[in-house]
Amino acid sequence: MRISLDGQTALVTGASSGIGRAVAEGMAAAGAKVVVNYHSQPDAADEVVAAIEEAGGEAFAVGADVSDESELQAMFAACVERYGAIDVVVANAGMQKDSAAAEMTLDDWRAVIDVNLTGQFLCARAAIRQFRGQGRRDVSRALGKLICMSSVHEVIPWAGHVNYAASKGGIAMMMKTLAQEVAEEGIRVNGIAPGAIRTAINEEETQGDAAKQLLKLIPYGRIGVAEDVANAAVWLASDLADYVVGATIFVDGGMALYPEFRGNG
Ligand code: NAD
Repeated sequence: MRISLDGQTALVTGASSGIGRAVAEGMAAAGAKVVVNYHSQPDAADEVVAAIEEAGGEAFAVGADVSDESELQAMFAACVERYGAIDVVVANAGMQKDSAAAEMTLDDWRAVIDVNLTGQFLCARAAIRQFRGQGRRDVSRALGKLICMSSVHEVIPWAGHVNYAASKGGIAMMMKTLAQEVAEEGIRVNGIAPGAIRTAINEEETQGDAAKQLLKLIPYGRIGVAEDVANAAVWLASDLADYVVGATIFVDGGMALYPEFRGNG
């Protein structure tokens, strides 16, 4: 058994860093042509494209703010113009703007909901329209695959991060609702809920003493790396996961298992 995305095209948002970069590289290693979306780091996106090409894959970078409807639509159009079709969309772009609820500005609330939740909705809508419009291709059993990057905070409340947790809780229900809505057409919608993965989004929490505290929340005993998430994404996108519909795969070393209850309660 071999995972293959040969002949397919995968669009990954927020792919110039962290998890998105690893997902883009993973999809390319499995044989997909990859569209590397970036927001504000064209050089970093070019580096990802270069790394994919060096490894023998094919990719190109497209800038777009996923929360901007016209930029997002232009990105999908650019992908189709370049590669002719899109088979896999990974709505990965996300951000945090943390503060206690009483101090949180409306701008910070809106910024996180706009990118994390509305951005994923816009991506999902464009993906569904594209999958329908291009019709069946002989590269996959599905008409198309959409993967929503969520977080363990779709189920674990997170004090001091109400905008982020609300966005991820929203993604969970959006993903399941979309999956229910479009599965009969052959579109598979699923989610991934990473736990603590060492990337730019959580640099402080995953180093030194903070990392020791964090490890108490991870039964499997290590902080994750972006490739842990990429491996799940590649599998979900492949036909090996053809009967997986509307599922959230937790890639979290057991973080969502309420480890504080070991020996307690
Ligand atoms: P990261 O900061 O490296 O990646 C986030 C990416 O999103 C960046 O490339 C950034 O440029 C991009 N982005 C932000 N706003 C954007 C916009 N408006 N339009 C397009 N792109 C935009 O952090 P990461 O950890 O790789 O995060 C990737 C995803 O994984 C996020 O959705 C995050 O919530 C989720 N996640 C991460 C962790 C973790 O522990 N690292 C845990 C759970 C979930």
